[in-house]
Amino acid sequence: MRSLAEAITGLELPAVEKISEEQAEEPFQILIATILSARTQDATTHAASTRLFRRARTPRSMAKLPVKEIERLIYPVSFYRNKARNVKACCQMLLERFGGRVPSTMEDLVMLPGVGRKTANLVMILGFNSLRNICVDTHVHRISNRLGWVKTKLPDETEQALYEATDVHWWPYINLYLVTWGQNVCRPIGPRCGDCAVADVCPRIGVVQRRSRT
Ligand code: SF4
Repeated sequence: MRSLAEAITGLELPAVEKISEEQAEEPFQILIATILSARTQDATTHAASTRLFRRARTPRSMAKLPVKEIERLIYPVSFYRNKARNVKACCQMLLERFGGRVPSTMEDLVMLPGVGRKTANLVMILGFNSLRNICVDTHVHRISNRLGWVKTKLPDETEQALYEATDVHWWPYINLYLVTWGQNVCRPIGPRCGDCAVADVCPRIGVVQRRSRT
């Protein structure tokens, strides 16, 4: 983790981290940006979130937007129709059940439409400065397995295994470091092991290197 901390310096931050910095770690904006980010390129998530927040910045103002308008604002994020419905329903639930504020417990967060453990953990870490959560997305799942930290099939299993396998000190940073590394070096296909800062300690479990054409 120390090597990765140094290695990611200067690399582009993941979209939700950027939004978190820009929006002064406001839990509502982190929540909405994370909902939009699922299976979507970072640049697209960032642009869509920025357009949406320009139009509405609070649960109350966002809940008033028609779903069609939210669709238009967040397009072309993937599954934009579903996500627009979830964003509106999420804002309505925040108003009706939580007094217009984002709840700060895992139990309450996962009740919100469109919110699973990945989103809830990221909101806990970035929005509420929790030091006790690990957010596992596809990059964290893949790289933790390649590094041999865990041996798991699903991201939810990886989250639980990482609580056992890693020092608590690193929990809030695992997502930032591994997502940044996954977008730049340890990519899903064709990881750049020759340029990797942790190559000397990585068993590269399950990595298949592409053959160069002759
Ligand atoms: S050595 Fe290769 S597989 Fe291991 S972390 Fe680096 S890029 Fe990923």
